[in-house]
Amino acid sequence: MPGNDVDLLLGTAVTAIDRSGSRIELADGSAITYDRLLLTPGASPRRLDVPGGDLGGVRYLRTAGDSERLGAALADAGQVVIVGAGWIGLEVTAAAREQGCEVTVVEPEPGALLRSIGPEMGETFADLHRAHGVTFRFGEAVIELRGSGGRVAAAVTSTGAELPADLVVVGIGAVPNTALATMAGLEIENGVIVDAALRTSDEAIYAAGDVANAFHPLLGRQVRVEHWANALNQGPAAARSMLGQPVSYDRVPYFYSDQYELSMETCGLPEPGRYDQVVYRGTGRAWNSSRSGWLAGPS
Ligand SMILES: Cc1cc2nc3c(=O)[nH]c(=O)nc-3n(C[C@H](O)[C@H](O)[C@H](O)COP(=O)(O)OP(=O)(O)OC[C@H]3O[C@@H](n4cnc5c(N)ncnc54)[C@H](O)[C@@H]3O)c2cc1C
Repeated sequence: MPGNDVDLLLGTAVTAIDRSGSRIELADGSAITYDRLLLTPGASPRRLDVPGGDLGGVRYLRTAGDSERLGAALADAGQVVIVGAGWIGLEVTAAAREQGCEVTVVEPEPGALLRSIGPEMGETFADLHRAHGVTFRFGEAVIELRGSGGRVAAAVTSTGAELPADLVVVGIGAVPNTALATMAGLEIENGVIVDAALRTSDEAIYAAGDVANAFHPLLGRQVRVEHWANALNQGPAAARSMLGQPVSYDRVPYFYSDQYELSMETCGLPEPGRYDQVVYRGTGRAWNSSRSGWLAGPS
């Protein structure tokens, strides 16, 4: 990048980290030496490992290219099965409904978004989708995809239900891209382990973004955050740390989601078991955890 003295090597994969030689190896056989190295390889969609999983019409969403191809496919699709009621699954569900597709969401957990925002807010999102005509099949897993002429035609669930589908979108989580760090012998556990200064178990190597499982000083534990704001803010923090400045990355995780007319912004990590109470203000509904029921008002 002219002016900033940065070399941008597009279309070039790093194939190995040689820690003893302080260099990275590239797919074309060349190598680059480093004094400090930052790992930001992100994460990859978890694959649906079932019979028929590689049929045409089975899609994943990670890149801008995936998004453009999926948008075009939704425009031609009639019946869509979404595997997973997480963020990717529900945002694609909203896009599919807006294109007029019939949508069924299959999710083994008892509710939507359970692991990321808990049952109360998860139910609010599920209700929003139901109000837009979406069918949920909670407590069921997709165990097989059946096809015709190489293309998917139906999803079979663990209860034996066969759901017709022209398009199946898989959103069952992401796996941190730890292959390089693992080969290099860095400490790995649910991503690359880094301290609050974003330093790995090798003092010269740092990690940030989706791949980094960082010690969070405010939360007092390791957290790996798969959200845009985390990648945006950890990058400069890692740079400061690599330049020898004192860094303790303690920003509260932030993320957002837009589905139909609903926009949500979240600060913190409201995972089940990590909050005490849900407080509703305004026209929302109140959830009574002890009674597992809604207390007041329609959504
Ligand atoms: C469909 C989708 C929707 C999302 N929506 C939201 C949202 O609404 N709100 C939100 O907060 N977050 C959202 N996210 C999450 C957000 O996009 C990620 O948290 C963020 O992109 C992570 O940034 P990153 O730099 O760590 O990884 P990435 O953006 O994945 O970048 C990693 C880069 O490293 C490259 N790479 C991997 N391996 C190698 C290698 N060996 N050599 C060289 N390069 C390599 C990859 O090709 C990629 O370009 C969404 C993610 C997806 C997939």
